[in-house]
Amino acid sequence: METVSDYFGCLVFDDRVMKANLSADVYASLRKTIDEGAKLDASVANAVASAMKDWAVAHGATHYTHWFQPLTGVTAEKHDSFISPAPDGGVIMDFSGKELIKGEPDASSFPSGGLRATFEARGYTAWDPTSYAFIKGKTLCIPTAFCSYGGEALDKKTPLLRSMEALNRQALRILRLFGNTDVKCVRTSVGPEQEYFLIDKEMYEKRKDLVYTGRTLFGAKSPKGQEMDDHYFGVIKPRVAAFMEDLNKELWKLGILAKTEHNEVAPAQHELAPIYTTTNIATDHNQLTMEIMQKVAAKHGLVCLLHEKPFAGVNGSGKHNNWSMATDTGVNLLSPGETPYENAQFLLFLCAVIKAVDDYQDLLRLSVATAGNDHRLGANEAPPAVISIFLGDELMGVLEAIENDTPYSAAEKTTMKLGVDVLPRFPRDTTDRNRTSPFAFTGNKFEFRMVGSSDSIACANIMLNAAVAESLKVYADRLEGAEDFETALHEMIQKTIKDHKRILFNGNGYDAAWIKEATEVRGLCNYPTTPDCMPHLLDKKNVDLLTSHKIFSVSELQSRCEIMLENYCKTVIIEANTMVDMARKQILPAVEGYTADLASSIASKKAVAPELACGYETGLLTKLSGLTDQIAIKTDELEAAVLELKNYTDIKEESCAIRDTILGKMAALRAVADEAETQTSSEYWPFPTYGDLLFSVK
Ligand code: ADP
Ligand code: MG
Repeated sequence: METVSDYFGCLVFDDRVMKANLSADVYASLRKTIDEGAKLDASVANAVASAMKDWAVAHGATHYTHWFQPLTGVTAEKHDSFISPAPDGGVIMDFSGKELIKGEPDASSFPSGGLRATFEARGYTAWDPTSYAFIKGKTLCIPTAFCSYGGEALDKKTPLLRSMEALNRQALRILRLFGNTDVKCVRTSVGPEQEYFLIDKEMYEKRKDLVYTGRTLFGAKSPKGQEMDDHYFGVIKPRVAAFMEDLNKELWKLGILAKTEHNEVAPAQHELAPIYTTTNIATDHNQLTMEIMQKVAAKHGLVCLLHEKPFAGVNGSGKHNNWSMATDTGVNLLSPGETPYENAQFLLFLCAVIKAVDDYQDLLRLSVATAGNDHRLGANEAPPAVISIFLGDELMGVLEAIENDTPYSAAEKTTMKLGVDVLPRFPRDTTDRNRTSPFAFTGNKFEFRMVGSSDSIACANIMLNAAVAESLKVYADRLEGAEDFETALHEMIQKTIKDHKRILFNGNGYDAAWIKEATEVRGLCNYPTTPDCMPHLLDKKNVDLLTSHKIFSVSELQSRCEIMLENYCKTVIIEANTMVDMARKQILPAVEGYTADLASSIASKKAVAPELACGYETGLLTKLSGLTDQIAIKTDELEAAVLELKNYTDIKEESCAIRDTILGKMAALRAVADEAETQTSSEYWPFPTYGDLLFSVK
């Protein structure tokens, strides 16, 4: 019988394949490029390209593509075949080093937020040799970065790689100070837990809102929702189990370490978690995972909804970004360790994260901001839009002891001096779970829980890496010049705790009292919506951070801010237009049909027996007729408000207008339409209801 290890990674040009198919010299130079970023020379590139092509053709590939992640949020690919004419009239399969290293897609149809005006319309893709090439269908996919001809990044991967490099540079400085000379590189790792909904494809296709926008814009609550808590970790239904089995197989073939799967809190909601890996690879893998989930679902007559809030009244979906830093020698820098030396180093890295999250709360918040995620953050199911860190009681105790120069516990006689005393060991998971914290320490990693389920994890990790790189830089600058390392270290850790303890919060993040305390007493940022937070990308402190670490140029930042706001506006406008369309073409005719039948039924009853009161029918008729008027009026109002947006020329102002007027009008229209749904006979209702959508997959 075929086992997983027989096919795991069979569609990946991974290390095993490279070793088997490249000469020792070529393999060694390629490894150097992958591990240390060394430049690849032309002859090596040609040899790699040729081996890659032979391998891909042997696996049925006819085409290749530079696979990249433009700012649209999905991945892009343009396929070229390997064929090249042979003199005898036939073809040979050809692929050069040049084609491997660089591609030239037309950049003009991808969002560039003004970069196109200043730079050329063309762009180029550049091979990222640290992420393995793979085969999808009949195409060899080469992971690449996407830039304009001026070298400005037009994608999510380029700044992600730059942010990883920035963190690496600064973390190495710190490690050297602790006397570490053998580490060559520090990388961040991520394990993104992916939530999603699975619904029946036939039902999906009857809902224009799902088809056009990925979420339901209408829909009364079904009699049963998630109140019984019977779905979380519940038995997986056969159709879903078959989907998961197929999905795992497809992911494993691509070398994606799909590990855990379970039902989530809401009905029809599930989660998939891979084993963590280097951030840029985890990002590529997560993009692929989302794509493959949708493909596999279709094969099973299902649709995978990745939207952050497909259904009102039940939980939405997020993506928990588990993040840590590790050396190439295999040491996790967020692992508390067992010796004093490691403890002090751990505390310094821990403090770097605390300082980073506090100093750059706004950047982290905006890194996850989309129209979809706005529905989730702040509703009582996902972390609030206010960022805080959960450390657990034990670590909080340690930090308090250091801050106040007091003994850590009653048993301790002396106060803690870093580098001398032994910290208590923190076995993984001594910390209580706190599911309400946006940023939680979970034993040897941080879990950033605000990322939206459909979003790329790139942005969140770019900002996190950048902010932590900056803390480490500040520390390294200070420590490298210190006369007495241990004293300086102690003072700096103490100072970080004093300066940034406002960001530490172990309580219930969903509690309204916390939001009040966070904003009014602690002065933390609270940006509930995308238009609130996105413009802060261009605040001086943020521009300084991102440019000084060479992660973004000023024009790249300006363009990104514009693109994100544009995305927000377009998303909501499409939703509003879809509502208008559904209200006029489906909901109003349906309710109208039902009331017309009610009216004629009343008339015919009274014709037979004039003394009949027809109280029920008349009452319902009156009620529905009133609702019909309301639906019509609110539809017109929404449509008019959308038309008025044409007057805006500034995207920031437009996004605020959308937040302040359109969203409210959408909610108002929905309220009356949903009310009408509850009063209308189900035979008349024009599309599947919440109950149908959430409970039909068996
Ligand atoms: P849960 O949070 O559901 O209890 P785990 O803590 O085991 O589950 O892991 C959740 C995710 O965190 C998984 O994707 C896992 O691979 C990832 N993870 C575990 N350790 C690390 C680490 N050191 N760095 C980054 N991610 C990690
Ligand atoms: Mg988790």
